[in-house]
Amino acid sequence: MELKDIRSMYLEELQALMKEMGEPGFRAGQIFDWLQQGVENFDEMSNIPSKLRVKLQEGYYIVTANIKKRLESDIDDTVKYLYELHDGELVESVLMKYNHGYSVCVSTQVGCRMGCSFCASGLNGLKRNLTASEILAQITKAQKDNNIRISNVVLMGMGEPMDNLDNVIRFLKLVSHEKGLNIGLRHISVSTSGVVSGIYKLMEENFPITLSISLHAPNDVIRDSMMRINKKWNIATLIKACKDYIKVTGRRISFEYAVVDGVNNSDDNARELAKLLKGMLCHVNLIPVNPVKENTYKKPDRKKIEHFCKLLNDLGINTTIRRTLGSDIDASCGQLRGKALEESEAN
Ligand code: SAH
Ligand code: SF4
Repeated sequence: MELKDIRSMYLEELQALMKEMGEPGFRAGQIFDWLQQGVENFDEMSNIPSKLRVKLQEGYYIVTANIKKRLESDIDDTVKYLYELHDGELVESVLMKYNHGYSVCVSTQVGCRMGCSFCASGLNGLKRNLTASEILAQITKAQKDNNIRISNVVLMGMGEPMDNLDNVIRFLKLVSHEKGLNIGLRHISVSTSGVVSGIYKLMEENFPITLSISLHAPNDVIRDSMMRINKKWNIATLIKACKDYIKVTGRRISFEYAVVDGVNNSDDNARELAKLLKGMLCHVNLIPVNPVKENTYKKPDRKKIEHFCKLLNDLGINTTIRRTLGSDIDASCGQLRGKALEESEAN
């Protein structure tokens, strides 16, 4: 019999399981607590009778993320993790320290099938989706490894969250559960390359999360050249979905814009972008593009990015430049896994 993933189960599902097993209902709460706090085997559940632990072990397993590589930045407190999952697949997370606490950037898939031209995560396509528990394990492992509590989560690591939305929604419900890690949804950001069907589905949940849209271009010609997904849902369709999302949830949207020299950073591009976003409840985050060796994109120098930022602000669009953390440790999505795969191929 194939073992089942107990760490992805809701409290209500554990309650039903306890009933089925003829166990008292309060055991469900105890087990949920252990699992959500990050136990790595059933024997750690010290208040659960050993007979029940053995029975659970016969049908279920506990998902863990094992640290394969840990890189600490010399220039700031950023720590990058490469985790190995139970089947040997590798995913990345980045732990960042801010004034207000710790934030972790987690992966939602092994690889990605969106194939954006500037991104290292999509180079080898999608291997598989992560389960809710595998997304959670990236948080609890980083907490344990550093003996800290994480207060903010961004789903901006490897993978497209909306290409794995059922597991992502399950993760969001688990991580914000008051008997779980209890990280408020207001402290969580979900980033998408623009999967419009997913934006509408997430809207139905009405979570108070922050939605980030990886826009990266002010028109379809440029966006088509950077992101294949734009052929399916173009900018007009995407912006319409964003406006609907704001109307229903009342939440501000964050637009990510990777600035690539000579591709999307002219004055005309800024004006076009300002026109597109005019009057929307939103914020623009400029990210100096991180060149990967598989493409020829160049990062503009600081002055050019500041000029682009000022132009947008002058045009009435609230814009900031994203602080780049851990630039000495490849702290950008997909870069570390890509390197690990190359090394294993070379061996
Ligand atoms: N798939 C989702 C979330 C993961 S990517 C998405 O695309 O939004 C997280 C962010 O990193 C996205 O905004 C993505 O566009 C950006 N990104 C990926 N590769 C990058 C690179 N080389 N330089 C700068 N930003 C990059
Ligand atoms: Fe996938 Fe996001 Fe990378 Fe595009 S930017 S390939 S959607 S992870």
